[in-house]
Amino acid sequence: MKKIFIFMIAITCLSCSEKKTETDNFNYNVEKFADLGILRYQVKGWENLTSNQQKLIFCLNEAALQGRDILFDQNNKYNLAIRRTLEAIYSNYQGDKSTSDYKAFEVYLKRVWFSNGIHHHYGEEKFLPEFSQSFFIDAVKSLEPSLVPTRQNQSVDTFLQEIIPVIFDPNLYAKKVNQDHSVDVIQTSANNYYGEGVTQQEVESFYAAKKDPNDKTPVPYGLNSRLVKENGQLVEKTYKIGGLYSPAIEKIVYWLEEAAKYAENKQQESVIHLLIDYYRTGDLKKYDEYSIAWVKDTNSMVDFVNGFTETYGDALGIKASWEALVNFKDPEATAVSELISKNAQWFEDHSPIAPQFKKEKVKGVIAKVITASILGGDCYPATPIGINLPNSNWIRKDYGSKSVTITNITEAYDKAAAGSGFNEEFVCCEYEKDLMEKFGAQTDNLHTDLHECLGHGSGQLLPDVDPDALKIYGATIEEARADLFGLYYIADAKMLELGLLNDKEAYKAEYYKYMMNGLMTQLSRIDLGKDIEESHMRNRALIARWVYEHGQAENVVELIKKNNKTYVQINNYEKMRSLIGNLLAEIQRIKSEGDFEGAKEIVEKYAVKIDPELHQEIKERYEKLNIAPYKGFVNPVYNAVKYADGNIKEIEISYTEGYAEQMMRYSKDYSHLPTYND
Ligand code: ZN
Repeated sequence: MKKIFIFMIAITCLSCSEKKTETDNFNYNVEKFADLGILRYQVKGWENLTSNQQKLIFCLNEAALQGRDILFDQNNKYNLAIRRTLEAIYSNYQGDKSTSDYKAFEVYLKRVWFSNGIHHHYGEEKFLPEFSQSFFIDAVKSLEPSLVPTRQNQSVDTFLQEIIPVIFDPNLYAKKVNQDHSVDVIQTSANNYYGEGVTQQEVESFYAAKKDPNDKTPVPYGLNSRLVKENGQLVEKTYKIGGLYSPAIEKIVYWLEEAAKYAENKQQESVIHLLIDYYRTGDLKKYDEYSIAWVKDTNSMVDFVNGFTETYGDALGIKASWEALVNFKDPEATAVSELISKNAQWFEDHSPIAPQFKKEKVKGVIAKVITASILGGDCYPATPIGINLPNSNWIRKDYGSKSVTITNITEAYDKAAAGSGFNEEFVCCEYEKDLMEKFGAQTDNLHTDLHECLGHGSGQLLPDVDPDALKIYGATIEEARADLFGLYYIADAKMLELGLLNDKEAYKAEYYKYMMNGLMTQLSRIDLGKDIEESHMRNRALIARWVYEHGQAENVVELIKKNNKTYVQINNYEKMRSLIGNLLAEIQRIKSEGDFEGAKEIVEKYAVKIDPELHQEIKERYEKLNIAPYKGFVNPVYNAVKYADGNIKEIEISYTEGYAEQMMRYSKDYSHLPTYND
């Protein structure tokens, strides 16, 4: 639950980005459709790696691409059938490609690729095609029947009867993850983590029974399996070799074995082997061993994530989606993060939370800045800009965690957003516009560093508090905690003392951006009439609205109108900081005490509902800017040049592959699962 995404158009600092890349003709923007923008990122520093490191990355990259089908199937059991049908049409269509039906078909397929399924990657709701049912039926029927991914012995007609409502009926599988706690969140979620007929109550008691309250080192029960009912009994179908998703996992393991040959050192080699053991056995104890070894591997240049990791896709936060990311260290930028980490204890000691919730000793929060070489699974094409792992509370407490920010992705966002007109439209005053131009990129990165390096690692639960006590509110509270920690400290004199900022006004750029985003601009990403659902968005609304409300008596933050447009105006930055400190103390209390009712109250009050009038206004203003609210990336292409004996001679990178081209190639080269994984 420790992933952070870019939320709005990144604040662009032209002067800084010019410094970052002197002569840069790189084409960051690839294409735009629906609400999505496809960008490209550059793998800077590749040429400084050793040949061995490049080969290691190549093998890890391959392992990162092999699990793509798993995520499609996890997101919904029909996703692979739908993707394969659409791709068959895309490759074989003989009709007129200039019709509006065909154009809408292309957009729909591109959206399915982007979301790894039929639900919006962010809003979780099913998106509907804008082509007609009859167009779809004709297109499928004109295919060679062997190209239609029917079930065994199923006719194309019966296949169509089964698949059409899944695509076209807005009420069927309406939401991938349903967070509305007034209903059964398992039965009303369209993901494929639980079998037919399994209820929320059953899931909760099944996993509650597994937990031993005296176990100080519990495994993440249920993380890597589907829970189904067989003959009335609940059983887990584990993701492993020989189990569920075996054909894809076998390929992942093959490439991990190849990668192990190029490991930089013994520690890294053992990380790779432990991961392989875990994929072979599905044993979560092995997973914890792997996580611990991974945390300890701090000297390697190359690093990676590959596995069932984050649980955002499950309303109960038990089941993890498959994701992968390969990266290597950016030594210069890492120095900044290391400086923050080295001072972790100082930050913990001076935090405004109650003493009993503080960690006496903050251990090994390792911070590094990385360059991504490939994005896979749930990190592709939409990707986080920072990651903090592992998620296990006791491993974090006993061994620490690794925290990374991904610079080449952040840079691509910044570059692609330059000149979008966003700040001109939404920032109230020249003073803030100037601050954001001068310091925006710097404070944005610093806030990310503080969130990842210190925020998630700070504080502790009281003894005997169940780490899952906050249930569906847990993720929002955890993200709020990390964000607040970062916001509180970015305004601290310590930033100047450590040389992380060199102007005492700089933090105001982040404060302004945060309030503007939380109170207003993030609403541009939500459909009219809908609530805020996603936990990072909820967290931002929670903080911004709470601060706004609690500062009203002293007029700390205002919403003002100019020419009928709403703007955020901050009147007292110092007071705003003290409110942030108060809220941090309260959020930490909720987390430390496992206060479910407290979490529920504060989230439901501040983080969910939207003022419809403001919502409409923001969307209209945003639409005029014609900016895609969500972004994703195509990966570079890595080509291994081989010797006659098959050994790799060198790796070449190219940046010319298009979006559809890449998706079709991945579906050809990295698609190992059967269409139906029942
Ligand atoms: Zn986070």
